[in-house]
Amino acid sequence: MFIGHYGPAFGAKAAVRRVPLWVYFLAVQFMDVVWSVLVLLGIEKVRIHPGLMQGSALDLYYMPYTHGLFGALGLSILYGAAVALFFREGKGAVFLACALAVFSHWICDLLVHRPDLWIYDDVKVGLGLWRWVWISLPLELILLAAGAWLYARFVPARRGGNAWLWGFVLLMAALEVYGAFGPPPASPTAEAQTALLAYGVLVVLAALVDVSRARVARIPAPA
Ligand SMILES: [Zn+2]
Repeated sequence: MFIGHYGPAFGAKAAVRRVPLWVYFLAVQFMDVVWSVLVLLGIEKVRIHPGLMQGSALDLYYMPYTHGLFGALGLSILYGAAVALFFREGKGAVFLACALAVFSHWICDLLVHRPDLWIYDDVKVGLGLWRWVWISLPLELILLAAGAWLYARFVPARRGGNAWLWGFVLLMAALEVYGAFGPPPASPTAEAQTALLAYGVLVVLAALVDVSRARVARIPAPA
């Protein structure tokens, strides 16, 4: 899953608004950010196998640290605790929202991945919806749209100020369609580098969308 992960990021922001949207955008891909780094270091492993599944050519045969259940829980706790350090009040809510945002990645991956999510011994899980792109692609887009709708609903905006948000959502949807139907990655290294670049750019764009809304929200409404 790629763009569908951002649905929970928008949803978390709607629930606990004192955390910036970009922090949630990083959270929902934190498992993949660490995965990309470990792939570049040769610690976790992936093969490119064109035609493996309609929705993905990635044979993720070894990634126990980032996508194993216990690794995912560990990364969730770590990220939630690190973000909570920056807040004086409401640390519990911040921790919970951020940790759940990180862990939502594992749940979303569970839906689309083949059984490559490690639990213990030889047990790996994954429902494999990537096998049918006509299921996985709408699923990702629905998740994204549902999260963005919650964000639009609960995070105050200027009158008619949702244009930037929906423009951003459309851009993400286009990226997802390209990812689903475009050429497979050239190599594991290229895949990891592209992922890091894409996640970085989306974090910056999320910050821009969020900052404009937050600033406007502080202006008192005309009497
Ligand atoms: Zn992942």
